[in-house]
Amino acid sequence: MRSGKTHVVITVLRRCLVCDEEFEVEEPETADQIGTPCLSCSAPTERVEIRSRRTRPVVINPHAAALGRLGGLKGGPARAASLSPERRRQIALHAIRTRWGYED
Ligand SMILES: [Zn+2]
Repeated sequence: MRSGKTHVVITVLRRCLVCDEEFEVEEPETADQIGTPCLSCSAPTERVEIRSRRTRPVVINPHAAALGRLGGLKGGPARAASLSPERRRQIALHAIRTRWGYED
């Protein structure tokens, strides 16, 4: 199971508004410009520089995905059972022609 979803993670330099401590931190691009607590005094820090930016795939929770599969797949088998063999054959041939570009 794959999802095309990604989010942007940036590495930034932050400076404390109170004690001027500077540190580098990875955070989502959407993190507040001013916010993340200072490592020394817990006061808010300001994003002063973006050092790198990368796109990461969004990790879905495999346990949640597995829960969704409990009881097995439903749609595919149900549809296969409801079609006549001849109709299944027509659909499969249509897919093959579409995929490989054969003329009818
Ligand atoms: Zn500080």
